[in-house]
Amino acid sequence: MASGEYIGAYCLTEPNAGSDALASRTTAVLNEEGTHYILNGTKIYITNAAFSDTFIVYAKVDGERFTAFIVEKSFPGLSLGPEENKMGIKGSSTRSVILEDCRVPAENLLGEVGKGHVIALNVLNLGRFNLGSACMGAAKHGLKKAVHFVQERKQFKQRIADFAASKEKIAKLAARLYAAESLQYRTAHLLEDALGSLDEHADLKTVGNAMSEYAMECAICKVYGSETLDVTADEALQLHGGAGFIQEYGMEQLYRDSRINRIFEGTNEINRLLIPTHFFRKEMKGEVDLESALLEAASYLEKENDDEKDDMLKSVETLRHLFLLSAGLAYKRFGEKLMHEQEILMMLADLAILTYAAESAILRTMKEAKQNGEEQASLKIALSQTLLEESLWEAEKLSRKLILELAGGEKAQQLHLLVVQSCNRCHSYGQEIKRNRMIAEKLYDANRYIC
Ligand SMILES: Cc1cc2nc3c(=O)[nH]c(=O)nc-3n(C[C@H](O)[C@H](O)[C@H](O)COP(=O)(O)OP(=O)(O)OC[C@H]3O[C@@H](n4cnc5c(N)ncnc54)[C@H](O)[C@@H]3O)c2cc1C
Repeated sequence: MASGEYIGAYCLTEPNAGSDALASRTTAVLNEEGTHYILNGTKIYITNAAFSDTFIVYAKVDGERFTAFIVEKSFPGLSLGPEENKMGIKGSSTRSVILEDCRVPAENLLGEVGKGHVIALNVLNLGRFNLGSACMGAAKHGLKKAVHFVQERKQFKQRIADFAASKEKIAKLAARLYAAESLQYRTAHLLEDALGSLDEHADLKTVGNAMSEYAMECAICKVYGSETLDVTADEALQLHGGAGFIQEYGMEQLYRDSRINRIFEGTNEINRLLIPTHFFRKEMKGEVDLESALLEAASYLEKENDDEKDDMLKSVETLRHLFLLSAGLAYKRFGEKLMHEQEILMMLADLAILTYAAESAILRTMKEAKQNGEEQASLKIALSQTLLEESLWEAEKLSRKLILELAGGEKAQQLHLLVVQSCNRCHSYGQEIKRNRMIAEKLYDANRYIC
């Protein structure tokens, strides 16, 4: 499979088990001789189904214990439904996989009976990281096409590229893409550290623990990457005007193909929910102390913080403390019942995502500036500043909304003031327009996304 001679498919989704994947109704029963499991059920929307030699199928042994099996194309009882007519990614095959008394040799059980969730969910973790990388590549392609087009097309006797509104769009897309790229690289490094030394002798539990350690970061890769691609596809199409709507220019396909990324590998809603949920589990296990974090965050945001730290790092610290303040307030108000407050969880997820993205970009920029000097890192610095500016406005809005829900009356007033003042200290007033024009010019000179 690694050499590409065999193609695989991952069969988790069923008609009644989508986001709730463990609600699977596919069954596996060991035959009397103990030689084969007999699988029955239907998997839907399976990528690669038509090309696949090997299907990793999840089924419940005796209708209860969720388990993974390696099922070969040739096994009796396996058949495929017709190709689905999809909105995009039409080069991929998507079919249902039907199992009717499908005989699977007992040795084809993958892992252990009842431990299929360890495999299914951890494969999704890495899949989410991979999906973020793929989205980053597609977004670069979209931005390049937009940069080409706006420099060729003229209206009102000037290039579309030279209108300031076009430059602002290009700069904001580039800044977001820079963050997407930075958080992918950073997560790749974290995963390499956790998984790089494992070999085929490692037991399932060790592999599972290593793969789940960065579940939050992988979920962020998926959400941030897919949404960066969607924004890029949308704005790149818009910059093409009517041509964006016409097939031959390629934007129409990019727009359709992008859309699935917010749905598969766990929808973005499920991935958003996973981020604060993992975080609050750490509090329950005693790995994080949210009561102290809340106090520390409030005291950090109150201070002027005129220490020696770089301004960009101070902004990241502000973002991080806004998240901790909101998470602490939420936990104080709802405790373990917080898991049912999805609107709060979604906003907390957005704050966590903004923070991880901004921090990844800023750390990368600072490393470059330290290694090669500020002149060499000037574009990265500009991209980081534009990203921070956007992130701070968004974080301020989210924090204020959360405070309104979580703290009442006078306390809410005090906290609002704290949030506004701490964000105000970080904004780079009066420089944004000039900086964004400069970023766009640099992309025009290179004729693509660069950083
Ligand atoms: C082209 C394509 C390829 C695919 N490839 C594969 C594959 O190879 N293998 C495979 O196993 N699956 C595959 N899938 C399935 C895909 O992973 C699922 O479609 C996806 O997980 C969502 O499940 P669902 O479609 O049942 O939506 P549902 O779970 O019914 O969700 C519908 C909506 O409700 C929201 N929702 C659901 N639960 C909650 C909740 N608890 N809280 C808040 N909101 C919620 C969702 O976010 C979504 O917006 C593929 C799908 C497509 C379209």
